[in-house]
Amino acid sequence: MRKIAFGYSDRCNIRCAHCVAADDTPHNRKMDLVEAKEIIRNMAGAHVSGISFTAGEPFIYFDDLLELVNLCNKLEIYTRIVTNSSWAEDPEKAKERVSTLKQRGLSQLRLSYSRWHQHNVPSQNVLNAARACHSAGVDYFVSFVTDFSEEDDTYEQFLRENELKFFPEPVIYSGRANLFDREKIFTDYQANCCSMNPYLAPDLSMYACCDAGSHFNTTDFFLLGNLKTHSIDQLYARSENHHLYNCIRSMGISTIASFAGFKTREIVTYRKCELCKKLFDSPDTLKFLQGAVYELQQWTR
Ligand code: SF4
Ligand code: SF4
Repeated sequence: MRKIAFGYSDRCNIRCAHCVAADDTPHNRKMDLVEAKEIIRNMAGAHVSGISFTAGEPFIYFDDLLELVNLCNKLEIYTRIVTNSSWAEDPEKAKERVSTLKQRGLSQLRLSYSRWHQHNVPSQNVLNAARACHSAGVDYFVSFVTDFSEEDDTYEQFLRENELKFFPEPVIYSGRANLFDREKIFTDYQANCCSMNPYLAPDLSMYACCDAGSHFNTTDFFLLGNLKTHSIDQLYARSENHHLYNCIRSMGISTIASFAGFKTREIVTYRKCELCKKLFDSPDTLKFLQGAVYELQQWTR
């Protein structure tokens, strides 16, 4: 199933300290609406069946968003919007907005929530947005970004007390969060497979991974190309036929790291995206893996 994180604009109305989408330089890029619609039509032609509107805060361009969601609906593309809920201060207005989106065919809202988001947006907004979804019949879930510290207990408690559907998500130490102090962790020795959701940036560059992958600036390992020079189908084909990406999907980052010579006791101290960066944003390691990819593919029990 072809899906994509669609970065119509990377402008945001708040500035979270952990934001993966932005480093220290605020971004304000935005696609042209007519061009974005053309891209979505081409995506439908390339069998893309799910679009997640993300990057900055999609509700900033609410009228454009309505048009884009409406178009996806006509093309039978599943739509999700990732939002910080800053627009949901007033419960009645929140209901109006969500029900308008529902009329245009929105499938799901993903409500971002963390102690960094909530530094700028009251938790009550997230509750209002969730209730608006409930009343409009729109599916939702809360994405609870956490570094697993005790500080996050009260934030989790708020979600539990209000019976909100939520999924914890580890903070990704990339973008602004790259500057965070972090303690070494010791994980179980887990596979760390990654389904890799592609990301289309406002400048029409497409990446094979939507999270930290667009920040692998030393090697640009996940950059697939740009829609100004390639078709959607070509860029998806690059992603789907790339031997190392397929190893990430099927065998996982830990096996690749072990194959590349990382010590086992070192592998268990990294979070998934950090280990991924160690492997693929290092020119020497990447060169080794590219040269040994056929051997790597046979590296099975
Ligand atoms: S994490 Fe989301 S809400 Fe926060 S600054 Fe980044 S794009 Fe905006
Ligand atoms: S593990 Fe690698 S491919 Fe997966 S989300 Fe993290 S950076 Fe992207």
